[in-house]
Amino acid sequence: MEQTQQISSSSELNGILKIPRQSKPKVVALLSGGIDSAVMVAKLSMKYKVYGLFIDYGQLTVTSDHEAACKIAKYYSIPLMSLQVSEFSLIAQSLLTGGTQSKVVPARNIFLVSLAAAYAITIGAKYVAYGANLDDSQDFPDCRLAFTTELNHALDLGYGISLLMPMQSQSKREIVIEARLLGVPLELTHSCYVSDVPCQQCDACKQRKIALETKQEAMQ
Ligand SMILES: [Zn+2]
Repeated sequence: MEQTQQISSSSELNGILKIPRQSKPKVVALLSGGIDSAVMVAKLSMKYKVYGLFIDYGQLTVTSDHEAACKIAKYYSIPLMSLQVSEFSLIAQSLLTGGTQSKVVPARNIFLVSLAAAYAITIGAKYVAYGANLDDSQDFPDCRLAFTTELNHALDLGYGISLLMPMQSQSKREIVIEARLLGVPLELTHSCYVSDVPCQQCDACKQRKIALETKQEAMQ
């Protein structure tokens, strides 16, 4: 397995740009360190050359999220760019950023996808990907099909980039079943919204617990 390439400077990025074009098309994949993005990397790696992008947007759990993203990137031997824009949380208050009780971070996903698009343009990728699922669409307006369809349209019009959302039609339960089929190391992931040590109380912890129980049932 290759050494995971951690990118933290423009000179290192320039090194990547010198890599000869390979047969697989490039995709920039947003890695949060959670279950969905881990499964997304596993799926995308079959067809694409994946460039991981982790973004510190000021989330409370950035330490464990980043650690998980690094482990996933290393496991799948993909480069990982880590970007710090933590002051975003000053204008985007949420439960996840230490502000209000809402778990919706205002305009987070369109912001993250825009950063992924910038990275994609820089490295000559025609695709960006993020791991929103069917369950997310209930609570998060920027995970809904109507929104992401138009976002995809805008990215295509502006930059010739396509937005990939390989789990958009899957529930968390279905994603975990697929993770088992693909051998995704879910133990490397982190899901809690509010703590580096899973609180077992937030929606992310509850959803993870239910999903992993599904996995155990499916294995019997
Ligand atoms: Zn939690």
